[in-house]
Amino acid sequence: MEENKEENIQNKVIIVTGGSRGIGSAIVKLLANEGNSVVLNYNQSKEIAENTKRELKEQGKEIDIFKADVSKREEVKELIKFVIEKYKKIDVLINNAGISQVKLFTQITDEEWDRMIQTNLNSVFYCTQEALKHMIAVQSGAIINISSIWGITGGSCEVHYSAAKAGIDGMTKALAKELGPSRIRVNSIAPGVIDTDMNKDIMQEELKSEIPLESIGKAEDIAKCVKWLIEDEYTTGQVISINGGWYI
Ligand code: NAP
Repeated sequence: MEENKEENIQNKVIIVTGGSRGIGSAIVKLLANEGNSVVLNYNQSKEIAENTKRELKEQGKEIDIFKADVSKREEVKELIKFVIEKYKKIDVLINNAGISQVKLFTQITDEEWDRMIQTNLNSVFYCTQEALKHMIAVQSGAIINISSIWGITGGSCEVHYSAAKAGIDGMTKALAKELGPSRIRVNSIAPGVIDTDMNKDIMQEELKSEIPLESIGKAEDIAKCVKWLIEDEYTTGQVISINGGWYI
């Protein structure tokens, strides 16, 4: 039995930003259970991150948790330093951390605009640039960005969020071209509505009737696609929509 278990082990070193809650947490759990070395990055939810670590340990899986505000270059550097010192490599970076805000465009302040771009877009720039130093050197790696349906279609009253997410998809395509010769794949996943804290205030029942699959997505739906993108070897520069057919 033990031998069969070993066959499934992928043993990749994977960083998940914003791994404490929601989609990031589901990604951490799935990839840790697949036998990878997962580094869960969190910012404010220390207790939840510790609980996830404990829960996985009870299942025989070890993960690392590391606090860093990924909207700050210096903290991202510390995160990458920790991973390299411990594991000597980074196989996969999952840029998942993000915030949302619903507000009329005319009322968004400079501070709110900057915070959104800093957290949802510049964080991807910082994490990707810092991680790439260690991927390009070995001509191998995968970057998976979690963008959003709003980056593709635009979301009313979420203009700053939509702009940041469209920026991520643009980065994904351009970087995929630049990094292809280095054998590094870059892809985005654009979720529709997923049942997480981010959506706790929306009318889920009303929304369901607009979605062909008549349901709200689960964080695990996104995690499964992440796993596939890690395993696949010939997909790059793509924005993969997982939205129950809400936007086709
Ligand atoms: P969530 O439940 O609100 O979780 C957000 C995560 O991001 C938390 O783990 C949080 O960590 C982390 N985070 C926020 N700011 C951070 C920072 N500065 N540094 C490090 N971590 C930070 O949201 P979610 O629904 O799982 O969303 C995850 C990603 O999917 C986001 O990029 C979001 O835009 C995208 N997305 C979600 C949906 C959806 O319907 N839920 C749809 C499309 C796209 P702490 O709590 O530790 O601070």
